[in-house]
Amino acid sequence: TVTTSITDTTQSIFLQQQPVKMLIGGQWVESASGKTFETLNPATGQVLANVAEGDAEDINRAVAAARKAFESGPWPKLTPSQRGRLLWKLSDLIEQNAEELALLETLDNGKPIKYSRAGDVPLTVDHFRYFAGWATKLEGETIPVSIPNMFTYTLREPVGVVGQIIPWNFPLQMAAWKLAPALACGNTVVLKPAEQTPLTALRLGQLICEAGFPEGVVNIVPGFGETAGAALASHPDVDKVAFTGSTEVGKKILQASVNNLKRVTLELGGKSPNIIFPDADLKYAVRGAMNAIFFNQGQVCTAGSRLFVHKAVYEQVVSGLADYAGKMKIGEGIDPATDLGPLVSQEQLERVLGYIDSGKREGATATTGGARAEDERLKGYFVQPTVFDNVRDEMTIAREEIFGPVVVALPFEDVEEVAARANKSIYGLSAGVWTSDVKKAHKMAAALKAGVVWVNTYNQFDAAAPFGGYKQSGYGREMGQAVLESYTQTKTVWINLR
Ligand code: ADP
Repeated sequence: TVTTSITDTTQSIFLQQQPVKMLIGGQWVESASGKTFETLNPATGQVLANVAEGDAEDINRAVAAARKAFESGPWPKLTPSQRGRLLWKLSDLIEQNAEELALLETLDNGKPIKYSRAGDVPLTVDHFRYFAGWATKLEGETIPVSIPNMFTYTLREPVGVVGQIIPWNFPLQMAAWKLAPALACGNTVVLKPAEQTPLTALRLGQLICEAGFPEGVVNIVPGFGETAGAALASHPDVDKVAFTGSTEVGKKILQASVNNLKRVTLELGGKSPNIIFPDADLKYAVRGAMNAIFFNQGQVCTAGSRLFVHKAVYEQVVSGLADYAGKMKIGEGIDPATDLGPLVSQEQLERVLGYIDSGKREGATATTGGARAEDERLKGYFVQPTVFDNVRDEMTIAREEIFGPVVVALPFEDVEEVAARANKSIYGLSAGVWTSDVKKAHKMAAALKAGVVWVNTYNQFDAAAPFGGYKQSGYGREMGQAVLESYTQTKTVWINLR
């Protein structure tokens, strides 16, 4: 096991032990081209590992392995209970390797280790456990048709070979959200992790092998979006694609699916409103607003990035939030005291700084933050937690997803007005409401066009609770019973009893 204050030597030995090849048909292999790519530590910009770079040829091989496993391997013959037990075994293995996975996630993504330990890894374990239970509960129905002598029933069958393309903000959890339900339902998978953060998915691949999943059931091909990702999305032998990422790429995935009409589920961007009424418990509301935007450096699709505050408490809330932001400890993720780590990459840093500039150009004021965080200690892609005041709804920073620690504060006066402004977005992923008036809470929950509404809390996730977007935030739902819909298909069987 690895301790928190690791030396450079310990870290390099630890990294040398990590898998960097791709998992295809139960074998760890180099890419067909022999190419590799670097994955960097965003806290320092240093290379962590060179990882096999998958491309169309590797995707072809992985899809062929997944097809074979789906049609003829031992996988389709396993009982639901055996599938469930494999998922449970995997969750145990993740738990046994929790500290190692947390460290690897923090090194590759940059996120504070306290969150990798308390959130990413345990939620991943929970996810596999929850779906282990579903493997034995996928029931069809008997249908009371009105045609005499017919016995009609439905079977729920897996969709087939599933391509899964995931982002870099929660690399391990995103892999779990995708893999667990797909496997519980009996599908086989080709998973493409994000190029910025391939390491924990590969380590998970080792644990999948160790758990005893038959070869070819899970294939993991690291690589870039335009090559490996695009090849997977357009592959004619893939039956379904599940994607989490930007709305822009989501549209490409949908276009690429047309050739063979694959099933597509998309979990895309957001610009979520977080609304504070004057009757809220302000101490909690301000802290909630802080977590809503700064958790994971703001690199969360549900980030509460539009903070609507009632005029009566606007000054108090904005200054409270700025105080919190100013006190956050910015640093390397591996330091257990760190509250805010680096952004994931140079590209993301430039994107976020670009938005901060655009806010200033369009006339908004950064009441706190508003720049890169850079000194002797902070050499990576760090950005100061930033709160913008004097914002108008039309400004770019109030409309577009920034995916960084940047929040816009917007005053409002009444319930109808704020609901309308909150809904005026191409996105509809999530929303927050802070109030002690139960009627207002329910009215707002009904009025907000979002796939999830949090009242007097924010960013709550549970394997049992469905999650997904309205509008351009996506199609389909992940987690809970709802996700099983998209990993199964219904077959209706008619038996003539005459
Ligand atoms: P971000 O902008 O946050 O990096 P993306 O939507 O670009 O998010 O990336 C999410 C995932 O989609 C990553 O695994 C990435 O490699 C992949 N991806 C990017 N472009 C494409 C594409 N054209 N086709 C398929 N996958 C893609």
